[in-house]
Amino acid sequence: MNFHILTLFPEMINQGLNTSIIGRAINNEIISINTVDIRDFTKDKHKKVDDYPYGGGAGMLMQAQPIYDAYQNVIKKINNKTKVVYLTPQGKLFNQEKAKSLAKEEDLIILCGHYEGIDERVLDLIVTDYLSIGDYVLTGGELPAMVMIDAISRNVSGVLNNELSTECESLEENLLEYPQYTRPDDFIGHKVPEVLLSGNHANIKKWRRQESLKRTYERRPDLLKDANLTKEDKEYLQRLTASL
Ligand code: SAM
Repeated sequence: MNFHILTLFPEMINQGLNTSIIGRAINNEIISINTVDIRDFTKDKHKKVDDYPYGGGAGMLMQAQPIYDAYQNVIKKINNKTKVVYLTPQGKLFNQEKAKSLAKEEDLIILCGHYEGIDERVLDLIVTDYLSIGDYVLTGGELPAMVMIDAISRNVSGVLNNELSTECESLEENLLEYPQYTRPDDFIGHKVPEVLLSGNHANIKKWRRQESLKRTYERRPDLLKDANLTKEDKEYLQRLTASL
């Protein structure tokens, strides 16, 4: 999968994504990160890319022309039906479901705003999806872009060594993951739950499912309404809520 990121701060993205699992995926050419410096496309002789908002108001806005030309330069090399995501606090909340669906794209263009945002006309012309990473305002779209690229890439085949690791983790099936433990089995008097040492796979599976339901009920009850629950799951949750 190829990510094309339109940004005023390409070094932030390049430095932020070149380590660990994502760095390895880039080295192995499973994903590619093509940062495009919007400033390279300005026609202003002083390399200016922002200006005051018409009508007044605080701060500066990124101008339409450099962004539009940077976008044209990218789509000349790829399919012009490629999705263009503008990261903005005004967008729909980005979540695991969206990460999985965007992981199916071959190319994805991500536009990072900065300062007070972007001239609306270029957004109208090029953006297909408006996405937010949470209900707070950041100084720029670069951190959100990195968050999104990381979350999407984990769902691209070959990025994680163990494909199963996305299957049973938090937010899959709208449930949170069960608690996990590693060696030693006794840490300053705190023991690993007995069932995990039993070698009985059916019991382990049942324990994990119940812990997952319990954790979701305690921490993110809002998720349960969209979770795919079996009759057994529902009975367990009924017993759990009655005992509280
Ligand atoms: N004035 C804008 C508004 O009220 O919607 C906010 C601009 S913000 C200071 C600058 C840039 O940061 C935005 O253009 C956007 O690209 C990015 N940004 C800020 N918060 C974000 C969030 N929660 N999710 C995604 N991008 C965000």
